[in-house]
Amino acid sequence: MALNSDALDGQNEALDVTDNDARVMNSSMACDTPNADAVDRLCAHLAKLAPNYRTTQDWPSESLAACANAGVFRWFLPPAIGGMGAIGGMGWSEADQVRGYLRLAAADLTTTFVITQFMGACKRIATSDNPVPKQRYLQDLLAGNLFATVGISHLTTSSRHLGAPALQAARDGDGFRLSGISPWVTGGSAADVIVLAATLDDGQELLAAVPTDTPGIVCGPGTELVALSASRTDRVTLTNVFVPTEMLIAGPMHGVMKSGTGAGTGGLQTSTLAAGLSRAAVDYLVAESIKRDDLKASAEQLDQQTMALCESLISAASGEKCDAGELRGRANRLVMRTTQAAMTAAKGAGYVASHPVGRWCREALFFLVWSCPQPVANEHLCELAGIE
Ligand SMILES: Cc1cc2nc3c(=O)[nH]c(=O)nc-3n(C[C@H](O)[C@H](O)[C@H](O)COP(=O)(O)OP(=O)(O)OC[C@H]3O[C@@H](n4cnc5c(N)ncnc54)[C@H](O)[C@@H]3O)c2cc1C
Repeated sequence: MALNSDALDGQNEALDVTDNDARVMNSSMACDTPNADAVDRLCAHLAKLAPNYRTTQDWPSESLAACANAGVFRWFLPPAIGGMGAIGGMGWSEADQVRGYLRLAAADLTTTFVITQFMGACKRIATSDNPVPKQRYLQDLLAGNLFATVGISHLTTSSRHLGAPALQAARDGDGFRLSGISPWVTGGSAADVIVLAATLDDGQELLAAVPTDTPGIVCGPGTELVALSASRTDRVTLTNVFVPTEMLIAGPMHGVMKSGTGAGTGGLQTSTLAAGLSRAAVDYLVAESIKRDDLKASAEQLDQQTMALCESLISAASGEKCDAGELRGRANRLVMRTTQAAMTAAKGAGYVASHPVGRWCREALFFLVWSCPQPVANEHLCELAGIE
């Protein structure tokens, strides 16, 4: 599915965002990205569209197209990736990538989350030792002509207690047959190609780029969720799907998820999106506190904590030694507190479905479940139960 301006049937007018809107969006976001003015304008545009993305019928094509046209997908890849004369990445540093995701997530979590899964697939394809998937897809992905996503969590955080692999692979001639399910795939029904993980009988695992028009593959249309329903997340079912060896991205090997660089900025991505959502909630609190003295102390305190977390994430991405689990726990706790503080400040008006604070509260719950490491989940449960 195309993500660029051609997908918009002429809807992608010039970004109708004033400088003032952009300044409000960037208030107290002490972490400027490269091309800061353009990113300000893009984020203000995304924030305006965000309330439209409510159900599985609301795939955020307009926002994704705005991101494609603004070159967002190229932030995350190195310049040399495409070869001579091809579209390359912009080669943003890891720290700038964190800054970029902080800005996008504060504007629109649904679109930003979809982009993380898209970029996860692009990075795996781009950095594979096998050049074929890269040659076939990467240029069109970076240009926004095609969409890709990932179905890999059944090797890490999903269905691990079941004993049998969710998605099995068996050797067949010059390739593999895949059968089973990938339980969580964001935007599967919008995707042209999915990076899927599967397990062989001997316990080795593989990653492969599987085109969605391959016979035997069925992508669910999207499940209605507590939030982020417009991400069209659903299971993908595979029945005897043939994947030629040339479409392998990694493996077969033991521990295939430890290979490559598709997981993003050292596991910081989920925490970064939580910090970005906290930023949106705190910006609301700070704006309210200008006219309400009783909110000032809590707005200032949460603002400082959010800035401190953003700075920790940027330092970690710059190579400073950090405990990614500790940052994730901090990000999860902060996003729950900031979004609920915003709801408390908005009072009954905030409980009306069309008010953004309700959406932020529901979105915050996502971080309790999205790729949440078991030790972080256990610590959170102990906190909730009052266990020291
Ligand atoms: C909106 C959304 C989008 C996502 N997008 C993607 C994506 O694009 N790509 C991707 O790869 N992943 C994606 N994920 C998956 C995500 O990263 C996690 O892997 C997923 O949230 C883990 O939840 P689960 O229900 O699958 O966990 P599971 O561990 O499978 O738990 C499911 C259920 O199993 C039972 N259970 C769990 N543990 C045990 C146990 N030890 N003993 C007995 N019973 C147990 C419980 O009843 C539990 O409710 C997405 C998730 C969400 C919510």
